[in-house]
Formats: sequence, C-alpha cells, structure tokens
Amino acid sequence: MPINVTAIPGLPDHVNDVRLRTAALINEEILPREDQLFAVRRGRAVTDEEKARAKALREEVKTKVKAAGLWAPHLPQEYGGMGLDFLAHAYMNEILAYALGAASLFGVVAPNSGNQKILVKYGTEEQKRKWLLPTIEGTMESGYSMTEPDNAGSDPRSIKTTARREGDEYVINGHKWFTSNGLDADFFIVMCRVEDPSAEGGRSGSMSQIIVPTNTPGVEIVRGIGIWGHPTSDHCEVIYNDVRVPAENVLGRVGQGHEAAQDRLGAGRVFHCMNSVGQMWRAFDLMVERSLTREVHGGLLKDKQFIQGFIADSYMDLQTSRLLTIRAAEMIDRGDPRVRTEISALKVYVPAAFSRVADRAIQVWGAAGVSNDLPLAAMYLGARTLRLADGPDEVHKILIAKNVIHQYESGQSWDFAR
Ligand SMILES: Cc1cc2nc3c(=O)[nH]c(=O)nc-3n(C[C@H](O)[C@H](O)[C@H](O)COP(=O)(O)OP(=O)(O)OC[C@H]3O[C@@H](n4cnc5c(N)ncnc54)[C@H](O)[C@@H]3O)c2cc1C
Repeated sequence: MPINVTAIPGLPDHVNDVRLRTAALINEEILPREDQLFAVRRGRAVTDEEKARAKALREEVKTKVKAAGLWAPHLPQEYGGMGLDFLAHAYMNEILAYALGAASLFGVVAPNSGNQKILVKYGTEEQKRKWLLPTIEGTMESGYSMTEPDNAGSDPRSIKTTARREGDEYVINGHKWFTSNGLDADFFIVMCRVEDPSAEGGRSGSMSQIIVPTNTPGVEIVRGIGIWGHPTSDHCEVIYNDVRVPAENVLGRVGQGHEAAQDRLGAGRVFHCMNSVGQMWRAFDLMVERSLTREVHGGLLKDKQFIQGFIADSYMDLQTSRLLTIRAAEMIDRGDPRVRTEISALKVYVPAAFSRVADRAIQVWGAAGVSNDLPLAAMYLGARTLRLADGPDEVHKILIAKNVIHQYESGQSWDFAR
C-alpha cells in the first residue's frame, strides 16, 4: 500500500509542501520499485549486469529527486541542499525513511552527511573545496573515526589517539574501530588529542578533529568488523601509525573537537530518530496489513486479542516517539537551549520503541518477518544498534536526570510550558 500522507492542519505551509512532495516521490518512484532499487542490499543483484541495472535505476530516481527540489535536506542551499529548518527536515525524514534506504536517493548518506555538516560549519574555504564539495558531488567518500577499542566511546574525553605537532604537520598515532564506511572512504575525520604546548588547556581542551586522507602512509585498515553474525561489514578497525598530515587539516580551532563532535551528533539525533519514526510507520503498516489477511486457527490475525494488543501497543509507541521528536525539532527552531534534555529523552525512547514495534511486526509475519523479503529484520537490528550508537541509553539517562535535578536544586520545579 502507498504511504498515506495528507496536509497536517496548523503546520506551516512550507512543511506540508515538503511532506506532500516527498510522499509523492516515495509512492510513485520508490515503493513500487523497492526490490530493484535496493537489489544489492537485499541480495537480489549478484551479477555485474544486475548491479549495474540497480545503479542505473537509482541514478534515474536521484535525478527525479533533484528535479523535484528535494535533494540533500541536511545541507544549506549554497551547497546544493534544501536549507530546511529543523521542523521541515524532521517531518521530511519521517516520510522518506518509510522506504528503508531511500534517504540515500535523497542525497543523505551517513557518515558523509554528518561529516558534510561539520565541514559546512567548521571548514575553511580550502577544506570545503577539497573535502566537502567532492562528497556532495559524489566523487569522494568519508568516514568519522572517533571510537577506540581500548577506551570508552560513551566518554569521548577518554580518547587516547594523539596528534603531535611537528613543524607544519601533525603526526597521528592511535587505534580506532567502528569507523563506518571505512572500506570506501577517501578521508576520515579523526578525533585526536593534540599534543601542542600552545593548545588551550583543560581535559577536553586539546581534543581536535583532523582530516586524514585514507591513502596517507601509516593509515592501516585492519578489517571490516563482522557484526550481527555477518563475517564482515564496512565498520572498520583502523590503526594510525605515525600518520603525517598538514597542520591545515585541523577542522576548526585546536581544542574545538569535542564541541564539533557534539554538533555532529547532538541535533542530528532528532533526524535519526525521525528516521526511526518513519521506519516504525512502515513496520506498523506491514503488521496491520498482514493481520487483515493472514488466517490462523480458523480466524484472521486481526481478530485475535494478542495481535490487537500488538497493534495498540505499537500505535502508542509510534505516536509517543513522534511527538517527542517533533517537539524537540520545534524547540531547536525556537532556539530553546533546554532542548538538550529533550534530545536525550528521545534518543533513549525512540530506538527502544522502534525495537518493540519491529519486534511485534516480525512476530506477526512469522518466518517471513526475519527474511530479507521484508525490511523488518534490518529494522530490528538497526533499532538495537541505535541504542548504542550516538551515545548509549545510560549516558543519556544520566544527562536527563542531571538536568532535572539541577532545575529542582536551583529552586524551580520542571517547567510545564516546554
Ligand atoms: C554499527 C555501529 C556503527 C558505528 N559507527 C561509528 C562511526 O562511524 N564512528 C565512530 O567513531 N564510532 C562509531 N560507532 C561506535 C559508537 O559510537 C560507540 O559504540 C558508542 O559511542 C559506545 O561506545 P563503546 O562501544 O566504546 O561502549 P562503552 O563506552 O564501553 O560503553 C559500554 C556500555 O557501558 C554502559 N555505560 C556507559 N556509560 C555508563 C555510565 N555512566 N553508567 C552506566 N553505564 C554506562 C552503556 O550500557 C554502554 O553501552 C558505531 C557503533 C556501531 C555499533
């Protein structure tokens, strides 16, 4: 069935306009041809000819997306993007995520999209020319290299990878892993601890992000780490052994790395969670549609109370996730600094709700639910991963509690007007 999107009364016109135009493309160009468009990821394109056919079809859809003015919702207009406010972007993500993988047809491909946002904000004109524009044009790939096997990723200030200043260069040494897109990337943005007497002090004072071309001597891609039972993936273990890059490759100021990482991950969580909401809609639709037709033990699934419970619980998970996420997007657009608490709340709540909804949809579909014929298995694994990536649940719960307690300790109860 097509995605059922109509204008929402009270929403600004430009937001409804983006929603309706995105839904039209999803319904007309993507859903009817999902199997062919995503043939490679679904294991249906094996020969070179089949892969080439899938690629050509994807390019055809991308051209239509660009012609419709829906390309790169995460980028400012001066870089060929849509220049959307947070609310419009969040609502658009809800719709484009309905077809799993469709974001890439709209020019949003992680980790490139996150790196592009850092380069837009912190890059010099030269860095933008050299690294940002090629990723937008699709001639370069990138990765983001922060997490280390021997130090807690949930405490980024514990990072040990060093960048020692020597003349006009930095010499990088360290061990990273889960650097996504590591097999294809032309450059990594590497989070380092700069050893430089002139750097600003403080524990995170010397944290910096440095652009490292992956073909620099000393960059060793050890392996694509196998995850979820698969023997390999593009999430790579990387060793940096005396890697020399020009000092001009530092992004922003030395010592600004932590702030830039928060920029990359912080507000981005709203978009990731709205992607999850879009996928939850798909899982929900699949679950309900199946329950209308599948007969078991002399009746349709829809008439069994266990299944009705699945539907009701999933509806509540979905709508709660959606409200939390939209409200955070509205607060960001209003410039409300208190949104930090809401972002952590949705980052904990939405992936867990998404897991529950995908889990129930799989149960309703039986064996087909875990097959690659449906997007449910991929959603389920993705939702579980989201509880770790971009800050694990516990770290966000600590932040929520800290902010709440701080408010009460300062003599005020929680503000109902948020
Ligand atoms: C598929 C995938 C892709 C990824 N892509 C990237 C990437 O491109 N680039 C990159 O740099 N990283 C990437 N990551 C890594 C991810 O960001 C980290 O896994 C995450 O930040 C958690 O760090 P960690 O794995 O070191 O866990 P740790 O920091 O060791 O934490 C382990 C667990 O400890 C618990 N915990 C943490 N703090 C507390 C606390 N204060 N109190 C109680 N419990 C706590 C949590 O349950 C947490 O899950 C990716 C991860 C995955 C799974």
